Amino acid sequence: MVATILVGMLCAHLLCFAVMFLLISKRLQGKKMGMDFFALGNLLLGLAYVLQLAENGPAWSEMSVVNHTLTLAAPIAYWLGAMRFFGHTVPLWQPLIGFAVVYVAAQVLVQWSLGPTARYAMLAGMAALMFLGMTLTIIYGVRTFAKDLYAEMVIFALLISGICLLNAIKFVKILNGGLDALHMDSSFQMVFYIYMTSLATVIPPSIVWLVLRRLTDDLRNMAGRDPMTQLLNRRGLSEALELFFSTRNAAPAYLLLMDVDHFKQINDTYGHQAGDTVLCHVAEVLRNTARHGDLTGRIGGEEFVAICLDTDSAGAIRLAERLRASVQEQAIKVADSDDVLRCTVTIGISRPFASTQALENAKRDADAALYRGKAAGRNRIELPLATPHFHPNLGTSKPIQLRHEAID
Ligand code: GH3
Ligand code: MG
Ligand code: MG
Repeated sequence: MVATILVGMLCAHLLCFAVMFLLISKRLQGKKMGMDFFALGNLLLGLAYVLQLAENGPAWSEMSVVNHTLTLAAPIAYWLGAMRFFGHTVPLWQPLIGFAVVYVAAQVLVQWSLGPTARYAMLAGMAALMFLGMTLTIIYGVRTFAKDLYAEMVIFALLISGICLLNAIKFVKILNGGLDALHMDSSFQMVFYIYMTSLATVIPPSIVWLVLRRLTDDLRNMAGRDPMTQLLNRRGLSEALELFFSTRNAAPAYLLLMDVDHFKQINDTYGHQAGDTVLCHVAEVLRNTARHGDLTGRIGGEEFVAICLDTDSAGAIRLAERLRASVQEQAIKVADSDDVLRCTVTIGISRPFASTQALENAKRDADAALYRGKAAGRNRIELPLATPHFHPNLGTSKPIQLRHEAID
């Protein structure tokens, strides 16, 4: 009786969350994150338990064959859903239908050749293997594609390995004690159903939490990045700086403001599309040239910034020079044209600054230096008007400039 109530509750949980997953997947439209697969998995498992309630103990019937097939198809749908969640494009119906056909045939064969006990043992053994596979996939994922969800994945691995263990025990019990081991009110079956009901309560909300986390991360990322180059925008830069300066003993930072020279001419000569290609190319150079840990962003049409962290003025100057030289050296292939483009940049460097509030001042500093660089011929880096804080080897009273041959 108690076991029947537990299985009834299990069905209710599974089917309610199947509807919830389906509703969420409809809202997510283009990027469903596997929620439709999870909905199907819950539906299959929920229906399997409904059939189990309708059956009167273990027996050979069409209903029982369907029940076993649905029971094992559900973890496949979950596994495929998890793959979808982590961005892998996997099909749903072919593997499920393929599995269903093979497993129905296997059941008929086993029932006919080895008898009913073997068919139930096969179900428990297959379930144990499938949940073992899931656990191993999660353990692999924690080290590779799911690193950002470490804690959640470890908890999932523990919970799922519990199902694997219970099915393995059930398998051994059936082999030793025959079908009597499956009696609904046996103490083992009670433990089994209590565990499954608890999981049906805990896992679905956890999946909703994972989706919420992914969505909010995506939103934060979208709000903080320039869609064309994927570099940080003003908002992303301030947030990243805030984080940096909130750590104790953070060293002052330097802002490098980089502007593409005569960019309007590139647009006018080759078209806006080619202009965009050039911007993406410069963004790539910036990303590849900046040191790991520096912040890189695009804050206007053809204006880029690098914020050098954990370095001194000499380090900031070296980065600016590397950037200038890299942009000048690299040819840019323009789509639908045999032409290759070259462009140059002028870079203004700010004085050191030590708080996010000082970012605007640093930007003004670097802007003024950039303006001087443009006036002085472009394709050059320009330092801020000297202050006692700046690089001691570079003088103190005059504007500090590193000049390069302008190529316009
Ligand atoms: P200078 O050497 O003094 O910097 O001259 P410039 O031509 O680079 O500067 P100007 O400010 O006159 O021109 C910037 C141009 O950038 C004008 C604008 O149409 C173009 N622009 C702004 N945003 C984008 C964009 O996203 N894509 C493309 N292709 N062009 C853009
Ligand atoms: Mg420009
Ligand atoms: Mg500009």
